[in-house]
Amino acid sequence: MQLDSERCIFCSNPLVKGSVEHVFPSALGGRVTTTHATCESCNNAFSEVSTGAVEIALANDFIYIRNALNVWSGRGNPPPTIKDAGQFDDGVKYDLAPNLTPIVSKSRIPSKEDTNNQANLDFIAQDISDAQRILGILEKRGIKLESINAKYITTKAPIIRAELKFNGNKIFRAIAKIAVVSYIVLYGNLRAISDIYLNLRKSIISGSPDIANYCGWDYINDFPTVLDVQPHEKSPDAVQSGFDHRIFITNVNHHLVAYINLFGGFNFSVLLGNHSAISPKCLALNPTLGKSARFNIKFTPPVSYIPKNINSFKNEHKKVWGEVQSVTSAIVEHCQKLSRDEYIKKLSQDLMISVQTASDPSDIDRIVRGFCEKLAHVENGKRP
Ligand SMILES: [Zn+2]
Repeated sequence: MQLDSERCIFCSNPLVKGSVEHVFPSALGGRVTTTHATCESCNNAFSEVSTGAVEIALANDFIYIRNALNVWSGRGNPPPTIKDAGQFDDGVKYDLAPNLTPIVSKSRIPSKEDTNNQANLDFIAQDISDAQRILGILEKRGIKLESINAKYITTKAPIIRAELKFNGNKIFRAIAKIAVVSYIVLYGNLRAISDIYLNLRKSIISGSPDIANYCGWDYINDFPTVLDVQPHEKSPDAVQSGFDHRIFITNVNHHLVAYINLFGGFNFSVLLGNHSAISPKCLALNPTLGKSARFNIKFTPPVSYIPKNINSFKNEHKKVWGEVQSVTSAIVEHCQKLSRDEYIKKLSQDLMISVQTASDPSDIDRIVRGFCEKLAHVENGKRP
């Protein structure tokens, strides 16, 4: 295979020097890359607003999942914090740090106007050092507070509700792109150009023809049956998480099909082309470890496949939504447990510090009782 005969899979320009393309998007923890898929301008198009920014849409729609599973990006960026994710019982807003950990939103410094007009100043601080930071700023403005009445307001770990909202068309284009780039990694650029429908490639890069003719959520068709999973030679210590990304490529009768699982349970399929002379292959990785973790998977293809069409989303909506909600709940439940444990650890540390700095035995009694109360609220946090 001559390298200089390779072409960009989307615009067909000669691929003189291909750009580094992630198979699964970096934001979803993808670390497998290839330079044999796209030219630089097509690669960039997937994050440009003018061409739909489909990869950004995919990353945003999975933001709660990325946060919950603590997914570091393939480029080494930390998991996302979700700003203003909700409110505590007392109305105080919180952000969600990774693992769905609620933290009081970073405080707003009272404005000059506030400090000029008000005798009583209310502000919310993340913790004691944040409060001291604000008091320091106020002091520099010449405001000396005569008395401070502080209150610890985090009374209960809130119920986290992941907001599910998927932009079907953009997501499908980003998913179909995963399938096409995987095909290149598994079978090479030239094979991909000869095997994959030109209209599918056009649809991915431009949105036309309608991607729904090729790709969609899939909880209707049977998926491949996994026979064996082994770590890939490039990551011999890789372990599965149950929240892994997998793409299976195989012929099913006269179709060439890609089956995709994201985070273990978000299922899609893509009709790539007509039957082709390839052997079935799978590309799989665990995105939750913050490092490369690939697998070799042996599987049996399904015996039949019904391609997606523009009515699939509408016709299968109830089924898809039910499945998507249940896999999301499983992920959120798994991680809320972790985040509650982290919260308890933080409470325990606060308890130790408070007890050490207490000046009076009756203070210690009060502090410990307060701790138990908070802990009880946390334990109750699972139900409203
Ligand atoms: Zn191109």
